[in-house]
Amino acid sequence: MKPPRPVEIIGGGLAGLSLGIALRHRGLPVTIREAGHYPRHRVCGEFITALDKDTQQALHLAGPLRGARAARGVVWYEPDRPSFRLQLPEPALCLSRYRLDAALASEFTGLGGELVTGDRTDATPRAGRVLTCGRRPATSSPWMGLKQHFRGLPLADDLELHLGRNAYVGLTMVENDTVNVCGLFSRQGGRTLPEKCRQAGLIDLAGRLEEAEADEDSFCAVAGLDYGAPRRRRDPVPLGDAAGLIPPFTGHGMTVAWQSAAVALPHIDLWSRGAAAWEAAASRIEYDLRRRFRWRLWAGRVIHPWILRPARRRWFRLLHQSGLLPFQPLYRLLH
Ligand SMILES: Cc1cc2nc3c(=O)[nH]c(=O)nc-3n(C[C@H](O)[C@H](O)[C@H](O)COP(=O)(O)OP(=O)(O)OC[C@H]3O[C@@H](n4cnc5c(N)ncnc54)[C@H](O)[C@@H]3O)c2cc1C
Repeated sequence: MKPPRPVEIIGGGLAGLSLGIALRHRGLPVTIREAGHYPRHRVCGEFITALDKDTQQALHLAGPLRGARAARGVVWYEPDRPSFRLQLPEPALCLSRYRLDAALASEFTGLGGELVTGDRTDATPRAGRVLTCGRRPATSSPWMGLKQHFRGLPLADDLELHLGRNAYVGLTMVENDTVNVCGLFSRQGGRTLPEKCRQAGLIDLAGRLEEAEADEDSFCAVAGLDYGAPRRRRDPVPLGDAAGLIPPFTGHGMTVAWQSAAVALPHIDLWSRGAAAWEAAASRIEYDLRRRFRWRLWAGRVIHPWILRPARRRWFRLLHQSGLLPFQPLYRLLH
């Protein structure tokens, strides 16, 4: 029997690390090349929705997710006034990326995987190379994401979602009584989270953040976010954000990253064992990803502008007030 072919994963975020862990559980040789280091803070709402049991089992996520808080209650503020409350159909999980990514990285190396950090690799396609290097920055996006951890910031429910002018901000409790505050804002003006909130008309929230204790080291920002239809890439196997961005209000990008890794897993396994050609594995993965995520990404892109623009958002509020908001079907469409 020939030894299995080595798999190379570019990008040690959620998709890359979890795929690496699952391949190592199957005894296959894997190297992950990651531009950054662990632990590190990431711009992320740290709110994981609709992560199914099959994906958790396929990727062996139980260990890395240990300690995640379950969350179900959501309160929407528009702007600064509670507009409506709802319960998620299934509990979400809340865990900081600082802890989660580091736990995944140590699980991977503990299983004998090779993790090369501080290595920004060029993403030239080649057999056995999987791209999990996150979103491709857009040159002309109006959006930027900011995130910071706070202490001493009581919440009205598991998730507070504040809708402002061209902005939304999520607040959720992660581990150690820490609240993660993460938002999507217009790129113009303001540098800190309170400044951005004020600019978006979220005056009370800005005041609450100024009174709380900010963890300065956790502040991070990201620009160039493109929520348009993904351009077709010539890379053979992009997974997670590298394959297409789902807007963050769904709280679903992390789950999509994991689910895409689970979709790719059996095909990469076959290639590594010499039972499939790389081109065949890559086109099966592309086909399966399209089938699984096409409608979710489309629905997220369509609803995204309705959440951001106050004039359109009014319709959501009116529908909810009249009991006609089809929340469950919308949730299912997006998840
Ligand atoms: C404002 C905002 C809020 C969000 N909130 C949520 C939320 O609440 N819930 C949710 O589920 N999702 C949320 N998301 C989305 C979520 O963060 C992403 O969907 C998820 O991180 C995607 O995982 P990934 O593995 O594809 O990419 P990432 O986690 O981004 O990992 C990519 C990795 O690749 C590395 N890399 C990049 N280029 C190279 C290279 N050339 N060589 C080597 N390494 C490279 C990067 O350093 C990074 O570690 C949010 C996103 C934003 C912007």
